[in-house]
Amino acid sequence: MAYSYEAPVSQSLFDRASVVTPGGVNSPVRAFRAVGGTPRFMVSGTGPYLTDADGREYVDLVCSWGPMILGHSHPEVIAAVQEAVSRGTSFGTPGEGEVALAEEIVARIEPVEQVRLVSSGTEATMSAIRLARGFTGRAKVVKFAGCYHGHVDALLAAAGSGVATFGLPDTPGVTGATAGDTVVLPYNDLDAVRAAFAAHPGEIACVITEASPGNMGVVPPADGFNAGLKELCAANGALYISDEVMTGFRTSKAGWYGVDGVRPDLMTFGKVMGGGFPAAAFGGRGDVMAHLAPAGPVYQAGTLSGNPVATAAGLAQLRLLDDAAYAKIDAVSAELRSLVGVALTKEGVAHTVSAASNMFSVFFTDEPVRDYEDAKKQDVFRFTAFFHAMLEQGVYLPPSAFESWFVSTAHDERAVERIAAALPAAARAAAEATA
Ligand code: PLP
Repeated sequence: MAYSYEAPVSQSLFDRASVVTPGGVNSPVRAFRAVGGTPRFMVSGTGPYLTDADGREYVDLVCSWGPMILGHSHPEVIAAVQEAVSRGTSFGTPGEGEVALAEEIVARIEPVEQVRLVSSGTEATMSAIRLARGFTGRAKVVKFAGCYHGHVDALLAAAGSGVATFGLPDTPGVTGATAGDTVVLPYNDLDAVRAAFAAHPGEIACVITEASPGNMGVVPPADGFNAGLKELCAANGALYISDEVMTGFRTSKAGWYGVDGVRPDLMTFGKVMGGGFPAAAFGGRGDVMAHLAPAGPVYQAGTLSGNPVATAAGLAQLRLLDDAAYAKIDAVSAELRSLVGVALTKEGVAHTVSAASNMFSVFFTDEPVRDYEDAKKQDVFRFTAFFHAMLEQGVYLPPSAFESWFVSTAHDERAVERIAAALPAAARAAAEATA
């Protein structure tokens, strides 16, 4: 596809980056490979806007893949960071900031009796699984196709068939032995989970699921799915791990738990709780968490865990996220969903706007999307055309049809108007796109 607009400074940075970094990026989706074109190198962000190295401003609907729920450079978060930095950047000792952040998490999310801070969502899910295995003395982990839990070896396995099956490694470097302990099942399919427990009696340590998936596009759990998982885990002596790295502190004050009320044994968090810094966490039942070193035998550690600057940023952000903030984010999300739907309908583009609280994405199909197989059936080429038309008009969408869109409290009327103004041409581009 040829693009009528250019980003020469970003392109030259990308060329430089490609010499010293594999693929030119430090996280694959940023390379724009799914949509083509030049990845934008951003230099600053303010409120709902990002400015790239070519000096173009974009309304940001990625929000750093979720963390920037108050918009960019929120003055109170920046002030908290500056205050923390002025006292030093890392001590390798306990500090009050990490206690305060842990207390805030425990206060907001009732099933979390104890929490351990780490530096990324990947670390959180990896550690939660190790703990589940250590606690139960079992090896196998159940995950769902289309759910992403970070680049943990055991969780990069995805099934090639629809049967309850042993996972095949999805990437070179993950051994068959590691993937062999992972059972990959279709999402939203409780019968498959029942069958897996029947096929592996006494072997499954945990079921891990995104609380409401956002990594195959937004595909919320069907009514009763999470409750069913919880019940099946309890009946079979396995732990139910709800991955709230994306939904945590975003879909409500208490994340997705605040929406569906299903009580997990363990939960994982990241993104919003770090305020744009590397901070993440896992936590849950006190008796399970008591198995973690130094209280118990399951080892887990981190040089920068509970970093004072990251915890200051996260705490400042969480303290600003009151009911009014969530009401605002929900309202902006609803308005954008409606605008996108109207624009695509007007151009006759088959689509489904799928939402889970204020997280949403657009599938370019009018068939229902309940799992990863359904999500993959959409007309991805229409998304590509839509994406580039939005980018050209100054709206930054996730560069993949399989990602959630994110809004913030900073997305005000002006930002929404700019998105609304861009939508008709983008919808037309989607309508005219060919495979
Ligand atoms: N879990 C979920 C649900 C995620 O969406 C992500 C990242 O997008 C992760 C885990 C991994 O988090 P991180 O990228 O911080 O390692």
